[in-house]
Amino acid sequence: MTGLHPVPPAAFEPGAPYINFHWHSPEPARIANTAIQADVSLQRFTTMPVTHYFDVKRVCHGCQRPFLFFAAEQKHWYEELGFSIEADCNRCVPCRKQQQGIARQRESYQRLFHIEHRTPEENLEMAECCLALIEASVFDRRQTERVRMLIRSVPEKARQALMQRVLELERETSPGGAAR
Ligand SMILES: [Zn+2]
Repeated sequence: MTGLHPVPPAAFEPGAPYINFHWHSPEPARIANTAIQADVSLQRFTTMPVTHYFDVKRVCHGCQRPFLFFAAEQKHWYEELGFSIEADCNRCVPCRKQQQGIARQRESYQRLFHIEHRTPEENLEMAECCLALIEASVFDRRQTERVRMLIRSVPEKARQALMQRVLELERETSPGGAAR
């Protein structure tokens, strides 16, 4: 395998050449000739550091599609972002983006939920979060009722697009027509 010329980092057993790979990236998953050297001194690990990163094949837990967890990405995760070396990547980039979006919607929803007297704008924002969370299957479909309540105070024009989505969700929930 090219790309493997291990130079033992001073911080770890100086003088003893060694190569460690990710335990969660077994050989069949590795793409040949993609190794880049790690800086072990920047890694956080509980058992073993990793001396080299490879591009590795993964199957996304979200959409079941294959994707590559790139060596450079791993370096970024484990040496710059401070992720534990034991942390694995289970989702492709679009699915990760989507999840981050959902996490943001959840946070906004919670923040708005705790406001006692919401302005119409805040109600609209909360309704949008609620809808997005229903569409992402985080909330139950019955929560469309809550969206309806939230947008009651919202001016007709601003409410139309949301109502369209509410009706669509409710139509999908009850076969044979709009619910209620
Ligand atoms: Zn995916």
